[in-house]
Amino acid sequence: MICAKQVFRCFKWIERAGDAITGAAGPVFIFLAVCLLSTGVVCFFDVVQPTLPWPWLTTPLCILVVVNLFAHYYLVCTVPPGFADEISRLQESNGRWWWARKRTGTRRKQLTGVQWSEELNMTKATTSKCKRCGVMRPERTHHCRICKRCVLKFDHHCPVRVNQCIGLHNERHFVLFLVYLSIASFVYAWAGWDHVLSALGWYSDPWIHRVPEVAFLLIYILAAVLFLAVTIMASYHIYGIACGETSVESQDNEYYRKMAKGRGEDFVNSYDLGKLKNLELFFNVGPNGYPIYTLFFPLRIQPYTDGHSWARKQGMQSHPGLRTGEELTDEEDL
Ligand SMILES: [Zn+2]
Ligand SMILES: [Zn+2]
Repeated sequence: MICAKQVFRCFKWIERAGDAITGAAGPVFIFLAVCLLSTGVVCFFDVVQPTLPWPWLTTPLCILVVVNLFAHYYLVCTVPPGFADEISRLQESNGRWWWARKRTGTRRKQLTGVQWSEELNMTKATTSKCKRCGVMRPERTHHCRICKRCVLKFDHHCPVRVNQCIGLHNERHFVLFLVYLSIASFVYAWAGWDHVLSALGWYSDPWIHRVPEVAFLLIYILAAVLFLAVTIMASYHIYGIACGETSVESQDNEYYRKMAKGRGEDFVNSYDLGKLKNLELFFNVGPNGYPIYTLFFPLRIQPYTDGHSWARKQGMQSHPGLRTGEELTDEEDL
């Protein structure tokens, strides 16, 4: 696992370097990304899709993947991540059709705007004052130097793909976008292989499609590269979610682990409720959240918390093994 972590860290570093170099070109990248995605979709439905088996099943599935891909990309670019200096956003979902319905009949209690169940140990977040913008902010919030605001459950600032921070309210769309992009590029690369040979003149049949061979081949190469890169990135994020950590916390917690070990203690991440529960809470599905189908349709749903309270391991109020004053601040993080 240590090896896998190092590989992930290496990719994280490449991702950050890429973000830094191309930061200023954010909106241009979004435009380019939409153009490339659209060209990919046209190539796929013109060349590959008509040759897929069981069209009654594969056609609706392909359409569903494309709709999810564009919808989650749109949402991750437009839904703000949630800031420490704004009022709770958990009420904004009333009456809009693209919001999924919560399960009916589940027992819910209100605690500072948080919808929670009795099984969860919801604890009020400790607050601290941001040294950069002076805002009082709950734990798991970090200051983004590019947005110049404190972002709830800050994961990272993403200028290349979405041009904003990834935090509490849009992290779910970000991860689902990566997953659907990885599925789409896999299907293109896998089912399109035979057409590559055809485009290269391997078979005697002429190229009968409206899309020119060169466009199909270029998108094919892009899909193959994207499949590798995006699958690794999506796995990195899902692994972090399953561990109950954001990108920032996975680095911080490693430091805390070393500090605690030096004293002969064990650091425990109290947000880690077990792999399955962590994933359930992140996507807010399962017994007390939204139905599982919300993962397969491009619907908006609320996070399980308003960012001012967090679910922790039973009986814990903070991370054991971490002493007051040892917490890393944004000065070290960024
Ligand atoms: Zn701040
Ligand atoms: Zn930001």
